[in-house]
Amino acid sequence: MKERSQHSREKQTQRVSEHKLSGTSCVESRRNTPVRRALVSLFQEANHPYSAVEVRGYLADRGLTVNKTTVYRQLETMTSEGLISTIDLGEGKKRYEACHGNEAHPHLICTRCGAIECLPVDDNLLKFSKRSADSRGFQLQGFSLELYGLCSHCRKELG
Ligand SMILES: [Zn+2]
Ligand SMILES: [Zn+2]
Repeated sequence: MKERSQHSREKQTQRVSEHKLSGTSCVESRRNTPVRRALVSLFQEANHPYSAVEVRGYLADRGLTVNKTTVYRQLETMTSEGLISTIDLGEGKKRYEACHGNEAHPHLICTRCGAIECLPVDDNLLKFSKRSADSRGFQLQGFSLELYGLCSHCRKELG
């Protein structure tokens, strides 16, 4: 009996050191995990919003295999910290993107390949929206504008 517990302790020690080598030790800071670092750089560079499934694929491409729950939890954490925001483009799922100066901005959406591109915030468009709402006694709470069509890549392919 004594021998067996000794043996299992050895096994445990070995497991812990293996974790340390691969950089996924439980004691590692939750705030700066490899997954979080990868997501921060993804959203810094991206110019379009990602779904959770796409985020998971991006991580997998970088050798970071994580389950759905972990991806969602990380995205929710980053959302609550204000690093990213969620948008709903009427697809029945959330998308996540970096906060471009916090103002709502329009999106170009390709109806053929599904590519989405963020457009810069347009002051005139925001003014128009606010003015239109104000003049009708409407209290504006949000702004969403999606422009649908064919992206340049798809137009080339279609000839
Ligand atoms: Zn397209
Ligand atoms: Zn966007």
